[in-house]
Amino acid sequence: MKKKAIIFGAGVSGLSIGYNLLKNNVDVEIYEETGTLGGIARSESRNGYLFDSGPHGFHSRDPKIVDFFKEIMGDNYTGFEKYTEIKYKGQYVTFPLKPMNILLTLSIGESFRCISSLIYSKIKSRIIKSEDKNAEEWLISRYGEPLYRVFFLGYTAKIWGIKPKELSAKFAQHRIPVISFTDLILRGTLGFKKWFGRQHKYAETAVTLYYPKHGGIGAFSEEMARKIKKMGGKINLNSRVASVNVKDGKVGSVDVLSSGKTSNVKGDFYISTIPIIVLPRIVRPILGKDVLEAASKIKFRSLLVFCLLIKKDQVFKPLHYYYYDKYFGRLTELKNWSRELYPKGITGLITEKTCDFNDELWNADENELFRKVIDDIKSEGFIEDKDILDKFVIRKKFAYPVYLIGFEENVEKIENALGKFKNLFMSGRQARFRYMDMDNCVEEGLEVVNEIVRR
Ligand SMILES: Cc1cc2nc3c(=O)[nH]c(=O)nc-3n(C[C@H](O)[C@H](O)[C@H](O)COP(=O)(O)OP(=O)(O)OC[C@H]3O[C@@H](n4cnc5c(N)ncnc54)[C@H](O)[C@@H]3O)c2cc1C
Repeated sequence: MKKKAIIFGAGVSGLSIGYNLLKNNVDVEIYEETGTLGGIARSESRNGYLFDSGPHGFHSRDPKIVDFFKEIMGDNYTGFEKYTEIKYKGQYVTFPLKPMNILLTLSIGESFRCISSLIYSKIKSRIIKSEDKNAEEWLISRYGEPLYRVFFLGYTAKIWGIKPKELSAKFAQHRIPVISFTDLILRGTLGFKKWFGRQHKYAETAVTLYYPKHGGIGAFSEEMARKIKKMGGKINLNSRVASVNVKDGKVGSVDVLSSGKTSNVKGDFYISTIPIIVLPRIVRPILGKDVLEAASKIKFRSLLVFCLLIKKDQVFKPLHYYYYDKYFGRLTELKNWSRELYPKGITGLITEKTCDFNDELWNADENELFRKVIDDIKSEGFIEDKDILDKFVIRKKFAYPVYLIGFEENVEKIENALGKFKNLFMSGRQARFRYMDMDNCVEEGLEVVNEIVRR
Protein backbone atom coordinates (compact mmCIF):
# COMPACT_ATOMS: atom_id res chain seq x y z
CA MET A 1 0.00 0.00 0.00
CA LYS A 2 1.13 3.57 -0.73
CA LYS A 3 2.56 5.56 2.18
CA LYS A 4 0.78 8.79 3.07
CA ALA A 5 2.36 12.00 4.36
CA ILE A 6 0.57 14.84 6.09
CA ILE A 7 2.40 18.17 5.74
CA PHE A 8 1.78 21.17 8.00
CA GLY A 9 2.34 24.41 6.08
CA ALA A 10 2.38 25.36 2.38
CA GLY A 11 5.51 27.52 2.30
CA VAL A 12 8.52 26.63 0.15
CA SER A 13 9.46 23.80 2.56
CA GLY A 14 6.04 22.14 2.74
CA LEU A 15 5.45 22.41 -0.99
CA SER A 16 8.89 21.21 -2.08
CA ILE A 17 8.64 18.24 0.28
CA GLY A 18 5.14 17.47 -1.01
CA TYR A 19 6.29 17.65 -4.61
CA ASN A 20 9.32 15.41 -4.06
CA LEU A 21 7.33 12.87 -2.03
CA LEU A 22 4.74 12.56 -4.79
CA LYS A 23 7.53 12.01 -7.30
CA ASN A 24 8.57 9.13 -5.07
CA ASN A 25 5.08 7.64 -5.05
CA VAL A 26 4.09 8.80 -1.56
CA ASP A 27 0.57 10.25 -1.13
CA VAL A 28 0.52 13.84 0.12
CA GLU A 29 -1.95 16.07 1.95
CA ILE A 30 -0.89 19.61 2.85
CA TYR A 31 -2.68 21.75 5.42
CA GLU A 32 -2.04 25.50 5.39
CA GLU A 33 -3.40 27.88 7.99
CA THR A 34 -3.67 30.93 5.73
CA GLY A 35 -5.47 31.39 2.45
CA THR A 36 -2.24 31.74 0.46
CA LEU A 37 0.63 29.60 -0.79
CA GLY A 38 4.30 30.43 -0.31
CA GLY A 39 4.41 31.33 3.40
CA ILE A 40 6.99 34.06 3.93
CA ALA A 41 8.10 33.87 0.28
CA ARG A 42 4.80 34.81 -1.30
CA SER A 43 3.54 37.43 -3.70
CA GLU A 44 0.41 39.43 -3.05
CA SER A 45 -1.71 40.89 -5.78
CA ARG A 46 -3.32 44.27 -5.38
CA ASN A 47 -5.55 45.55 -8.17
CA GLY A 48 -3.70 43.21 -10.49
CA TYR A 49 -0.17 44.34 -9.51
CA LEU A 50 2.10 41.90 -7.70
CA PHE A 51 4.36 42.60 -4.75
CA ASP A 52 6.69 40.14 -3.02
CA SER A 53 6.70 39.74 0.73
CA GLY A 54 10.28 41.03 0.85
CA PRO A 55 12.88 40.64 -1.91
CA HIS A 56 13.40 36.96 -2.71
CA GLY A 57 15.80 35.50 -5.23
CA PHE A 58 16.51 31.79 -5.50
CA HIS A 59 20.22 30.94 -5.26
CA SER A 60 22.35 27.93 -4.53
CA ARG A 61 25.89 26.79 -5.09
CA ASP A 62 24.57 23.25 -5.57
CA PRO A 63 23.60 22.66 -9.23
CA LYS A 64 21.07 19.98 -8.14
CA ILE A 65 19.12 22.56 -6.15
CA VAL A 66 19.27 25.14 -8.94
CA ASP A 67 18.01 22.41 -11.31
CA PHE A 68 15.10 21.83 -8.94
CA PHE A 69 14.09 25.50 -9.27
CA LYS A 70 14.39 25.25 -13.06
CA GLU A 71 12.41 22.00 -13.14
CA ILE A 72 9.57 23.71 -11.29
CA MET A 73 9.64 26.96 -13.21
CA GLY A 74 10.07 25.58 -16.76
CA ASP A 75 11.01 28.61 -18.84
CA ASN A 76 9.44 31.11 -16.45
CA TYR A 77 12.65 32.33 -14.83
CA THR A 78 15.46 34.74 -15.28
CA GLY A 79 18.96 34.64 -13.74
CA PHE A 80 21.35 37.45 -12.88
CA GLU A 81 24.30 38.36 -10.72
CA LYS A 82 23.32 40.08 -7.51
CA TYR A 83 24.29 43.73 -7.03
CA THR A 84 23.92 45.26 -3.62
CA GLU A 85 24.92 48.68 -2.41
CA ILE A 86 24.89 50.26 1.01
CA LYS A 87 24.68 54.03 1.19
CA TYR A 88 27.11 55.30 3.76
CA LYS A 89 27.81 59.00 4.36
CA GLY A 90 26.28 59.88 1.02
CA GLN A 91 28.40 57.36 -0.89
CA TYR A 92 27.61 53.93 -2.28
CA VAL A 93 29.57 51.01 -0.88
CA THR A 94 29.24 47.60 -2.50
CA PHE A 95 28.30 44.70 -0.27
CA PRO A 96 29.85 42.30 0.72
CA LEU A 97 32.44 44.85 1.79
CA LYS A 98 35.52 45.10 -0.40
CA PRO A 99 38.67 46.63 1.04
CA MET A 100 39.10 49.06 -1.84
CA ASN A 101 35.53 50.29 -1.44
CA ILE A 102 36.11 50.88 2.23
CA LEU A 103 39.15 52.99 1.39
CA LEU A 104 37.30 55.03 -1.18
CA THR A 105 34.25 55.64 0.95
CA LEU A 106 35.75 56.67 4.26
CA SER A 107 38.04 59.58 5.09
CA ILE A 108 41.78 58.90 4.98
CA GLY A 109 41.98 58.70 8.77
CA GLU A 110 38.94 56.40 9.03
CA SER A 111 40.21 54.23 6.18
CA PHE A 112 43.58 53.85 7.82
CA ARG A 113 41.99 52.88 11.14
CA CYS A 114 39.58 50.44 9.49
CA ILE A 115 42.07 48.72 7.20
CA SER A 116 44.87 48.50 9.79
CA SER A 117 42.46 47.16 12.37
CA LEU A 118 41.08 44.67 9.83
CA ILE A 119 44.60 43.42 9.03
CA TYR A 120 45.46 43.29 12.74
CA SER A 121 42.31 41.31 13.54
CA LYS A 122 43.03 38.86 10.70
CA ILE A 123 46.57 38.23 11.90
CA LYS A 124 45.47 38.00 15.52
CA SER A 125 42.70 35.51 14.79
CA ARG A 126 45.21 33.28 12.97
CA ILE A 127 47.62 33.29 15.89
CA ILE A 128 45.24 33.28 18.85
CA LYS A 129 42.29 30.95 18.44
CA SER A 130 39.55 31.97 20.82
CA GLU A 131 35.86 31.24 20.91
CA ASP A 132 33.60 34.22 20.28
CA LYS A 133 30.99 34.53 23.01
CA ASN A 134 28.57 36.70 21.07
CA ALA A 135 27.97 38.31 17.67
CA GLU A 136 29.87 41.46 18.64
CA GLU A 137 33.02 39.47 19.44
CA TRP A 138 32.63 37.47 16.23
CA LEU A 139 32.33 40.63 14.13
CA ILE A 140 35.19 42.47 15.83
CA SER A 141 37.51 39.49 15.54
CA ARG A 142 36.86 39.29 11.80
CA TYR A 143 36.41 42.93 10.80
CA GLY A 144 38.14 44.89 13.54
CA GLU A 145 36.42 47.35 15.86
CA PRO A 146 36.27 50.47 13.60
CA LEU A 147 34.57 48.63 10.72
CA TYR A 148 32.25 46.92 13.18
CA ARG A 149 31.16 50.33 14.50
CA VAL A 150 30.78 51.88 11.07
CA PHE A 151 28.89 49.12 9.28
CA PHE A 152 27.43 46.62 11.73
CA LEU A 153 26.59 48.00 15.15
CA GLY A 154 23.82 50.43 14.20
CA TYR A 155 22.45 48.30 11.38
CA THR A 156 22.20 45.14 13.48
CA ALA A 157 20.53 46.99 16.34
CA LYS A 158 18.07 48.53 13.87
CA ILE A 159 17.09 45.20 12.32
CA TRP A 160 17.12 43.01 15.40
CA GLY A 161 16.06 45.53 17.99
CA ILE A 162 19.00 44.49 20.17
CA LYS A 163 22.76 45.00 20.12
CA PRO A 164 25.10 42.37 18.59
CA LYS A 165 26.41 41.78 22.14
CA GLU A 166 23.09 40.10 23.00
CA LEU A 167 23.07 37.90 19.92
CA SER A 168 24.80 34.55 19.64
CA ALA A 169 28.03 34.34 17.59
CA LYS A 170 26.09 31.87 15.37
CA PHE A 171 23.97 34.80 14.22
CA ALA A 172 26.95 36.52 12.65
CA GLN A 173 28.33 33.24 11.34
CA HIS A 174 25.12 32.58 9.42
CA ARG A 175 24.45 36.10 8.26
CA ILE A 176 27.67 37.95 7.53
CA PRO A 177 30.19 37.24 4.77
CA VAL A 178 33.83 37.53 5.82
CA ILE A 179 36.58 39.46 4.07
CA SER A 180 39.36 36.96 3.55
CA PHE A 181 43.00 37.84 3.85
CA THR A 182 43.58 37.02 0.17
CA ASP A 183 40.66 39.23 -0.72
CA LEU A 184 42.21 41.99 1.23
CA ILE A 185 45.50 41.84 -0.65
CA LEU A 186 44.51 40.67 -4.13
CA ARG A 187 40.90 41.55 -4.76
CA GLY A 188 41.44 44.95 -3.20
CA THR A 189 43.79 45.80 -6.06
CA LEU A 190 41.55 44.20 -8.67
CA GLY A 191 38.59 45.96 -7.13
CA PHE A 192 40.46 49.21 -7.65
CA LYS A 193 40.53 48.59 -11.39
CA LYS A 194 36.87 47.65 -11.42
CA TRP A 195 35.93 50.73 -9.50
CA PHE A 196 37.20 53.00 -12.21
CA GLY A 197 36.66 50.68 -15.15
CA ARG A 198 32.86 50.34 -14.95
CA GLN A 199 30.06 52.74 -15.50
CA HIS A 200 28.33 51.69 -12.30
CA LYS A 201 30.36 50.94 -9.24
CA TYR A 202 28.85 47.55 -8.49
CA ALA A 203 30.66 44.62 -6.95
CA GLU A 204 30.23 41.24 -8.52
CA THR A 205 29.05 38.44 -6.27
CA ALA A 206 29.64 34.76 -6.69
CA VAL A 207 26.09 33.48 -6.77
CA THR A 208 23.48 33.88 -9.48
CA LEU A 209 20.00 34.84 -8.34
CA TYR A 210 17.05 33.21 -10.08
CA TYR A 211 13.68 34.86 -10.15
CA PRO A 212 10.40 34.14 -11.97
CA LYS A 213 9.89 36.19 -15.12
CA HIS A 214 6.17 36.34 -14.36
CA GLY A 215 4.26 36.10 -11.11
CA GLY A 216 6.84 37.33 -8.57
CA ILE A 217 8.54 34.94 -6.18
CA GLY A 218 5.11 33.52 -5.32
CA ALA A 219 5.10 31.87 -8.75
CA PHE A 220 7.63 29.33 -7.41
CA SER A 221 5.14 28.11 -4.79
CA GLU A 222 2.15 28.44 -7.11
CA GLU A 223 3.89 26.27 -9.67
CA MET A 224 4.90 23.64 -7.07
CA ALA A 225 1.27 23.56 -5.92
CA ARG A 226 -0.01 23.17 -9.48
CA LYS A 227 2.33 20.23 -10.06
CA ILE A 228 1.42 18.68 -6.69
CA LYS A 229 -2.28 18.74 -7.56
CA LYS A 230 -1.55 17.34 -11.02
CA MET A 231 0.20 14.37 -9.41
CA GLY A 232 -2.81 13.75 -7.14
CA GLY A 233 -1.64 15.58 -3.99
CA LYS A 234 -4.12 17.60 -1.94
CA ILE A 235 -3.55 21.15 -0.70
CA ASN A 236 -6.00 22.53 1.85
CA LEU A 237 -5.81 26.28 2.46
CA ASN A 238 -7.42 28.01 5.46
CA SER A 239 -6.80 24.78 7.37
CA ARG A 240 -4.88 25.08 10.62
CA VAL A 241 -3.26 22.07 12.22
CA ALA A 242 -4.72 22.59 15.69
CA SER A 243 -3.49 19.50 17.50
CA VAL A 244 -1.02 16.71 16.92
CA ASN A 245 -2.18 13.56 18.66
CA VAL A 246 0.57 11.24 19.83
CA LYS A 247 0.40 7.72 21.19
CA ASP A 248 2.96 4.95 21.76
CA GLY A 249 5.90 7.02 20.60
CA LYS A 250 4.39 8.21 17.32
CA VAL A 251 1.88 10.60 15.84
CA GLY A 252 -1.47 8.90 15.26
CA SER A 253 -3.43 11.77 13.73
CA VAL A 254 -3.82 15.53 13.60
CA ASP A 255 -6.88 17.69 14.14
CA VAL A 256 -7.36 20.29 11.47
CA LEU A 257 -9.52 23.35 11.99
CA SER A 258 -11.13 24.70 8.84
CA SER A 259 -14.14 27.05 8.52
CA GLY A 260 -14.97 26.51 12.18
CA LYS A 261 -15.04 22.71 11.81
CA THR A 262 -12.48 20.26 13.14
CA SER A 263 -11.58 17.13 11.23
CA ASN A 264 -9.29 14.30 12.22
CA VAL A 265 -6.65 13.44 9.62
CA LYS A 266 -4.42 10.36 9.56
CA GLY A 267 -1.23 9.52 7.71
CA ASP A 268 1.90 7.37 8.03
CA PHE A 269 4.27 10.33 8.26
CA TYR A 270 3.82 13.89 9.52
CA ILE A 271 6.05 16.75 8.43
CA SER A 272 5.86 20.04 10.27
CA THR A 273 7.17 23.22 8.64
CA ILE A 274 5.34 25.45 11.15
CA PRO A 275 7.25 27.58 13.70
CA ILE A 276 9.17 25.67 16.34
CA ILE A 277 7.36 27.65 19.04
CA VAL A 278 3.93 26.59 17.75
CA LEU A 279 4.36 22.84 17.34
CA PRO A 280 5.21 21.91 20.97
CA ARG A 281 2.10 23.80 22.14
CA ILE A 282 -0.28 21.74 20.02
CA VAL A 283 1.03 18.25 20.81
CA ARG A 284 -1.51 16.18 22.79
CA PRO A 285 -1.13 14.89 25.45
CA ILE A 286 0.68 18.07 26.50
CA LEU A 287 4.51 17.94 26.52
CA GLY A 288 6.58 18.53 29.67
CA LYS A 289 6.72 21.97 31.28
CA ASP A 290 10.44 22.31 30.47
CA VAL A 291 9.76 21.87 26.74
CA LEU A 292 6.98 24.47 26.74
CA GLU A 293 9.20 26.78 28.73
CA ALA A 294 11.98 26.33 26.15
CA ALA A 295 9.48 27.23 23.40
CA SER A 296 8.47 30.37 25.27
CA LYS A 297 12.11 31.55 25.31
CA ILE A 298 12.55 31.32 21.56
CA LYS A 299 12.03 34.57 19.72
CA PHE A 300 11.11 35.44 16.15
CA ARG A 301 11.29 38.91 14.68
CA SER A 302 8.31 40.10 12.65
CA LEU A 303 8.34 42.14 9.48
CA LEU A 304 6.28 44.84 7.83
CA VAL A 305 6.77 45.06 4.08
CA PHE A 306 5.66 48.40 2.63
CA CYS A 307 4.59 48.15 -0.98
CA LEU A 308 4.32 51.16 -3.28
CA LEU A 309 2.98 51.19 -6.81
CA ILE A 310 4.77 53.93 -8.72
CA LYS A 311 3.86 55.70 -11.96
CA LYS A 312 7.34 55.59 -13.46
CA ASP A 313 9.00 53.12 -15.75
CA GLN A 314 11.99 52.71 -13.43
CA VAL A 315 12.89 54.41 -10.18
CA PHE A 316 16.55 53.62 -9.77
CA LYS A 317 19.49 52.03 -11.53
CA PRO A 318 19.58 48.27 -12.10
CA LEU A 319 20.45 47.39 -8.55
CA HIS A 320 18.91 44.48 -6.68
CA TYR A 321 19.23 45.56 -3.08
CA TYR A 322 19.72 49.12 -1.93
CA TYR A 323 20.49 49.69 1.74
CA TYR A 324 20.37 53.20 3.09
CA ASP A 325 20.85 54.83 6.40
CA LYS A 326 17.28 55.90 7.01
CA TYR A 327 14.37 54.85 9.18
CA PHE A 328 13.71 52.12 6.63
CA GLY A 329 16.78 50.10 5.82
CA ARG A 330 16.40 48.39 2.48
CA LEU A 331 14.73 49.41 -0.73
CA THR A 332 14.00 47.06 -3.61
CA GLU A 333 12.63 47.72 -7.06
CA LEU A 334 11.24 44.40 -8.22
CA LYS A 335 11.27 45.50 -11.85
CA ASN A 336 15.06 45.24 -11.61
CA TRP A 337 14.54 41.53 -10.92
CA SER A 338 12.11 41.00 -13.76
CA ARG A 339 11.18 43.67 -16.29
CA GLU A 340 8.03 41.69 -16.99
CA LEU A 341 6.58 42.07 -13.52
CA TYR A 342 5.04 45.47 -14.31
CA PRO A 343 3.87 47.07 -17.54
CA LYS A 344 5.70 49.95 -19.20
CA GLY A 345 5.40 53.18 -17.22
CA ILE A 346 4.66 51.40 -13.92
CA THR A 347 6.98 49.99 -11.29
CA GLY A 348 6.80 48.68 -7.72
CA LEU A 349 8.97 49.44 -4.70
CA ILE A 350 9.17 47.50 -1.47
CA THR A 351 10.86 48.51 1.73
CA GLU A 352 10.91 46.64 5.01
CA LYS A 353 10.87 47.33 8.71
CA THR A 354 11.42 44.68 11.34
CA CYS A 355 9.55 44.78 14.63
CA ASP A 356 8.23 42.48 17.32
CA PHE A 357 4.80 40.94 16.89
CA ASN A 358 2.13 43.20 18.38
CA ASP A 359 4.59 45.88 19.50
CA GLU A 360 4.11 49.62 18.98
CA LEU A 361 5.36 49.52 15.44
CA TRP A 362 3.28 46.49 14.45
CA ASN A 363 0.18 48.33 15.73
CA ALA A 364 1.14 51.79 14.46
CA ASP A 365 -1.06 53.70 12.08
CA GLU A 366 -0.14 52.58 8.55
CA ASN A 367 -0.65 56.03 7.06
CA GLU A 368 1.85 57.51 9.48
CA LEU A 369 4.35 54.79 8.71
CA PHE A 370 3.88 55.33 4.99
CA ARG A 371 4.60 59.02 5.51
CA LYS A 372 8.03 58.03 6.82
CA VAL A 373 8.59 55.50 4.04
CA ILE A 374 7.69 58.01 1.37
CA ASP A 375 9.75 60.82 2.93
CA ASP A 376 12.77 58.49 3.00
CA ILE A 377 12.41 57.52 -0.62
CA LYS A 378 11.72 61.09 -1.67
CA SER A 379 14.82 62.30 0.13
CA GLU A 380 16.88 59.99 -2.11
CA GLY A 381 15.38 61.78 -5.11
CA PHE A 382 13.68 58.63 -6.39
CA ILE A 383 10.02 59.67 -6.34
CA GLU A 384 7.62 62.53 -5.74
CA ASP A 385 4.17 62.32 -4.10
CA LYS A 386 2.44 62.54 -7.46
CA ASP A 387 4.14 59.30 -8.61
CA ILE A 388 2.43 57.14 -5.97
CA LEU A 389 -0.50 55.20 -7.36
CA ASP A 390 -1.17 52.80 -4.50
CA LYS A 391 0.29 51.58 -1.21
CA PHE A 392 -0.31 48.71 1.20
CA VAL A 393 1.50 46.62 3.82
CA ILE A 394 2.30 42.89 3.87
CA ARG A 395 2.72 41.55 7.42
CA LYS A 396 4.82 38.59 8.49
CA LYS A 397 4.60 37.49 12.08
CA PHE A 398 7.42 34.94 11.80
CA ALA A 399 10.12 36.46 9.60
CA TYR A 400 13.53 36.06 11.23
CA PRO A 401 14.75 33.70 13.94
CA VAL A 402 16.47 35.77 16.64
CA TYR A 403 19.61 33.96 17.75
CA LEU A 404 19.62 35.15 21.34
CA ILE A 405 22.56 33.90 23.38
CA GLY A 406 21.76 30.38 24.56
CA PHE A 407 19.03 29.75 21.96
CA GLU A 408 20.64 26.44 20.94
CA GLU A 409 19.77 24.81 24.26
CA ASN A 410 16.09 25.68 23.90
CA VAL A 411 15.96 24.46 20.33
CA GLU A 412 17.69 21.23 21.32
CA LYS A 413 15.25 20.62 24.15
CA ILE A 414 12.29 20.91 21.79
CA GLU A 415 13.95 18.84 19.06
CA ASN A 416 14.79 16.10 21.55
CA ALA A 417 11.24 16.00 22.89
CA LEU A 418 9.65 15.89 19.44
CA GLY A 419 12.34 13.64 17.99
CA LYS A 420 10.93 10.82 20.14
CA PHE A 421 7.95 10.56 17.78
CA LYS A 422 9.43 8.45 15.05
CA ASN A 423 7.05 9.41 12.24
CA LEU A 424 7.25 13.16 12.90
CA PHE A 425 9.73 15.38 11.04
CA MET A 426 10.44 19.07 11.41
CA SER A 427 11.78 20.85 8.37
CA GLY A 428 12.26 24.41 7.11
CA ARG A 429 13.25 27.81 8.40
CA GLN A 430 10.56 28.25 11.05
CA ALA A 431 10.45 24.64 12.16
CA ARG A 432 14.23 24.32 12.59
CA PHE A 433 14.71 27.91 13.78
CA ARG A 434 17.57 28.42 11.36
CA TYR A 435 18.52 31.09 8.87
CA MET A 436 17.52 28.98 5.96
CA ASP A 437 16.99 30.42 2.55
CA MET A 438 14.68 28.77 0.03
CA ASP A 439 17.46 26.60 -1.36
CA ASN A 440 18.27 25.34 2.14
CA CYS A 441 14.58 24.54 2.64
CA VAL A 442 14.51 22.51 -0.58
CA GLU A 443 17.77 20.76 0.31
CA GLU A 444 16.75 19.87 3.85
CA GLY A 445 13.33 18.81 2.60
CA LEU A 446 15.01 16.33 0.26
CA GLU A 447 16.66 14.67 3.27
CA VAL A 448 13.23 14.21 4.87
CA VAL A 449 11.88 12.81 1.60
CA ASN A 450 14.78 10.34 1.31
CA GLU A 451 14.25 9.20 4.89
CA ILE A 452 10.52 8.61 4.35
CA VAL A 453 11.15 6.76 1.10
CA ARG A 454 13.85 4.65 2.77
CA ARG A 455 11.56 3.49 5.62
C1 LIG B 1 12.56 39.55 4.14
C2 LIG B 1 13.05 38.19 3.74
C3 LIG B 1 13.80 38.06 2.57
C4 LIG B 1 14.25 36.81 2.18
N1 LIG B 1 14.98 36.71 1.03
C5 LIG B 1 15.36 35.50 0.58
C6 LIG B 1 16.05 35.38 -0.66
O1 LIG B 1 16.36 36.35 -1.33
N2 LIG B 1 16.38 34.13 -1.08
C7 LIG B 1 16.05 33.00 -0.36
O2 LIG B 1 16.34 31.89 -0.81
N3 LIG B 1 15.42 33.11 0.82
C8 LIG B 1 15.05 34.31 1.31
N4 LIG B 1 14.39 34.42 2.51
C9 LIG B 1 14.13 33.19 3.27
C10 LIG B 1 12.88 32.46 2.73
O3 LIG B 1 11.77 33.32 2.79
C11 LIG B 1 12.63 31.23 3.61
O4 LIG B 1 13.77 30.41 3.63
C12 LIG B 1 11.48 30.37 3.14
O5 LIG B 1 10.43 31.11 2.60
C13 LIG B 1 10.98 29.56 4.35
O6 LIG B 1 9.97 28.68 3.94
P1 LIG B 1 9.30 27.68 4.97
O7 LIG B 1 8.31 26.92 4.18
O8 LIG B 1 10.33 26.93 5.71
O9 LIG B 1 8.56 28.62 6.06
P2 LIG B 1 7.24 29.51 5.86
O10 LIG B 1 7.29 30.19 4.56
O11 LIG B 1 7.09 30.33 7.07
O12 LIG B 1 6.08 28.42 5.79
C14 LIG B 1 5.44 27.89 6.92
C15 LIG B 1 3.96 27.82 6.62
O13 LIG B 1 3.30 27.19 7.71
C16 LIG B 1 2.05 27.82 7.88
N5 LIG B 1 1.55 27.50 9.22
C17 LIG B 1 1.94 28.01 10.43
N6 LIG B 1 1.26 27.44 11.44
C18 LIG B 1 0.42 26.54 10.87
C19 LIG B 1 -0.51 25.60 11.40
N7 LIG B 1 -0.73 25.47 12.71
N8 LIG B 1 -1.20 24.81 10.51
C20 LIG B 1 -0.99 24.91 9.17
N9 LIG B 1 -0.12 25.78 8.65
C21 LIG B 1 0.60 26.57 9.47
C22 LIG B 1 2.36 29.28 7.65
O14 LIG B 1 1.19 30.02 7.36
C23 LIG B 1 3.32 29.20 6.46
O15 LIG B 1 2.65 29.28 5.24
C24 LIG B 1 13.96 35.65 2.96
C25 LIG B 1 13.22 35.80 4.14
C26 LIG B 1 12.78 37.05 4.53
C27 LIG B 1 12.00 37.19 5.80
